Amino acid sequence: MIVKCFGARGSIPVSGAEFDEIGGNTTCVEVISDNDRIIIDAGSGIIKIGDNYCNEKIKNINLFITHYHFDHIIGLPFFRPMFNSDYKINIFGPSYKGKKVEDIIKNIIFPPAFPVDFKRLLKNKRFTFKTLEPGEEFNIGEIKIETISLSHPNGGLGYKFINNNKKFVFLTDNELDFKHKSGCSFKEYCDFSKNADLLIHDSEFLEKEYKASKSWGHSLFTSALDLAHCSKVKHFGLFHHNKCRSDSDVTKMIQDSIDYMNKNNMNFQISAISQNFEFEI
Ligand SMILES: [Zn+2]
Ligand SMILES: [Zn+2]
Repeated sequence: MIVKCFGARGSIPVSGAEFDEIGGNTTCVEVISDNDRIIIDAGSGIIKIGDNYCNEKIKNINLFITHYHFDHIIGLPFFRPMFNSDYKINIFGPSYKGKKVEDIIKNIIFPPAFPVDFKRLLKNKRFTFKTLEPGEEFNIGEIKIETISLSHPNGGLGYKFINNNKKFVFLTDNELDFKHKSGCSFKEYCDFSKNADLLIHDSEFLEKEYKASKSWGHSLFTSALDLAHCSKVKHFGLFHHNKCRSDSDVTKMIQDSIDYMNKNNMNFQISAISQNFEFEI
């Protein structure tokens, strides 16, 4: 399985030389097995995947949404396959207050916020939808998928992808030190991530920032490291970088992470996920 990132920024896309290395696009990750491909989230990073798919002539798209905050869907109106009748697009996502994934999306993107009315667009039969609940397990081709509820304002889902006994766990917008209405316990997230070959987790905040941002739905990077340690993961990725976090700030966060790991006898590989991150497990 190959995991490729196209956007790792939180809250809003950013630009500028100080963000070049990590990149400014918001959440979008692709999971690729021998015969199947999955996209996670439609942040601004999905625009590049759309261009790739057009060049590679891929016609069947599986898109998993973690939740419907703007930074996770902002690229959808600019994802070229949405407007090309050659593509079949299967959209998976959590419910919100009993509403299905299609009813949520079509009520977010329409005039005058965007010229194309998604209420009309999504009626086309080339779009299919599956609303997911926490704890579901199913397959997309040869990739097994499991879900868990996120601790985040307005809820959301984390995903586990299993292929050839390799596990990739993706938990963004998940606050480990504050239990939101939808949230699970630290132990439940630890069990869900157990022995992952790669865990990517929200690591948005430093200790000094967290006092003012507790309950916003994002984790202290040290709490995310605690989770990686508890889960005995092989490789851990810092993700959902704060919109103000420059490349040099992220380099400092990596060093602080290594110091924290050494101090607490933690032993796993670590990366700051950038929008060019590519990893084979
Ligand atoms: Zn987010
Ligand atoms: Zn969010």
